[in-house]
Amino acid sequence: DQYTANKLGSKKERTLALIKPDVVTKMGDVIDLIYSSSLIVTKAKMTTLTWSQAADFYVEHQSKPFFNNLVQFASSGPVVAMELMGDEAVSTWRRLLGPADSAAARKEAPQSIRAQFGTDVVKNVGHGSESLSAAARELEFFFPSTIGHGPPNTATFTDCTCC
Ligand code: UDP
Repeated sequence: DQYTANKLGSKKERTLALIKPDVVTKMGDVIDLIYSSSLIVTKAKMTTLTWSQAADFYVEHQSKPFFNNLVQFASSGPVVAMELMGDEAVSTWRRLLGPADSAAARKEAPQSIRAQFGTDVVKNVGHGSESLSAAARELEFFFPSTIGHGPPNTATFTDCTCC
């Protein structure tokens, strides 16, 4: 169980999960799938990004041909940003999401979230940080740390008080 896993020193991580505008009306279903996994939601916020905020968030993709499309879509309506915690949260959440292209996800990972709720490679349900360092940056983007109000958003957590 989680308590034993902590005692054994398993790799607890935090990651940033984003529910994109295409499925905000189905966010309950996505959150149900998160809770069926080993991850827990420790922070959540609904917001609508401006074009330039979305461009900042996706800065790593700025040289890609799909960048403008991606930023336009990400800023087209509300998104739900969540901090997820658990064993290897970064890779666990990306595995739950499945391949970026929802059609490919339906072939390669039919149980994945993108297979079940995605439309194509743009309307593909969600985002997950690619690495611990990306998670640290992306968590800070949506949940800026405030001096005097709780611990900073370090990507690895060791001080969980609930398990
Ligand atoms: N994307 C897109 N068109 C493409 C490829 C990717 O709009 O042809 C978007 C898509 O929203 C994807 C994001 O760019 O989620 C980042 O792409 P990546 O391949 O890194 O996939 P992810 O990390 O989201 O699984």
